[in-house]
Amino acid sequence: MYFARAGADRRSRNIPNSIGKLFKLAGLHETFGKGDLVALKTHFGEPGNTTFIRPQFLDRIASDISKRGGKPFLTDSNTLYIGHRSNAVDHLIAATRHGFTFPVVNAPIVIADGLKGRDEIEVEVNLRHFKKVSIGAAAFHADSIIGVAHFKGHMMTGFGGAIKNIGMGFGSRRGKLDMHHDIKPEVDAESCKSCGTCVKSCPSGAIVIKRRATIDSDACIGCGECSLVCPNEAIDPGKGESKEVLQEKIVEYCCGVLRSKRKRSGFMNFIMDVTPHCDCPAWSDRAIVPDIGILASRDIVAIDQASADLVNAARGTEGTRLKGNLGSGEDKFRHLHKVDWGIQLSYAEEIGLGKRKYRLIEM
Ligand code: SF4
Ligand code: SF4
Repeated sequence: MYFARAGADRRSRNIPNSIGKLFKLAGLHETFGKGDLVALKTHFGEPGNTTFIRPQFLDRIASDISKRGGKPFLTDSNTLYIGHRSNAVDHLIAATRHGFTFPVVNAPIVIADGLKGRDEIEVEVNLRHFKKVSIGAAAFHADSIIGVAHFKGHMMTGFGGAIKNIGMGFGSRRGKLDMHHDIKPEVDAESCKSCGTCVKSCPSGAIVIKRRATIDSDACIGCGECSLVCPNEAIDPGKGESKEVLQEKIVEYCCGVLRSKRKRSGFMNFIMDVTPHCDCPAWSDRAIVPDIGILASRDIVAIDQASADLVNAARGTEGTRLKGNLGSGEDKFRHLHKVDWGIQLSYAEEIGLGKRKYRLIEM
């Protein structure tokens, strides 16, 4: 596990140069050969969000791949919820407006699951929740995958890192529906101010205002958008074991994506702008810890474990959404989202995706 600390005091240690060194040290250059189509899986950011990984950072990775004869392309799948990335046209416009264009990044964009999220391939996994998973066709057909994840909080999985970037991120529309199936949000009637924001954001028309917001659980597809947009934090995105089950399902999707690419995949986590939520909302809240750095590894489990450990080892920043567990060594994501995020890591280890144990080598 290779680590470059945030901050630089000379050109050789600037972020693009650190990315280049990490890429080689972690052996990511060995995951593809000449002429291979290399998927750089990232997140282009919802318009209004400003903490997605900068295109300049992806350019360094894409340029290194090109120099070695690979053919990189930037990719992500369409979203379930109403926004600007739920079909390939809107998605490409959003990515272009965020600077993911040819003059900036030396790679074209391919939306992995096509125009409307239906270009998918079923992959057999035979695991606890799924026999088969439905992933974006480009993820299946790519020769190699480099996951480039912004490491930050997530209301349903505690944090979003490499596993979520690959598992949920490469699910087709059907795949995302399958993963979210058990999520049933609940409205706290006392906190709800009947403002209607959640009604406008619900992609399945499952919410009506009857004095307070009311959710039709049969119509709900479990996307969690209502909880994210509610200005009064009146919607709990998932009760009971639903968040634990979601984590396991994401891991199974991750397994499906990487099934044929165990030696043809590598990962980089950017532990910078560690916001409480992911890059899907149309805003970016204050980071809960100062910028930490970048990790690179061939092990998708170890890189998420190491990222979470580094965040929890840092001191939390006062005046952010993180109101407790600010001390070094305290669990920031569990405090923020009341989720046992270790479930995704232990299940991923159990099914052989990688190991939680790692050795951190700082550049
Ligand atoms: S967004 Fe929140 S406060 Fe507004 S109606 Fe929905 S649940 Fe109530
Ligand atoms: S009720 Fe909430 S979780 Fe369910 S579909 Fe609507 S926005 Fe998504």
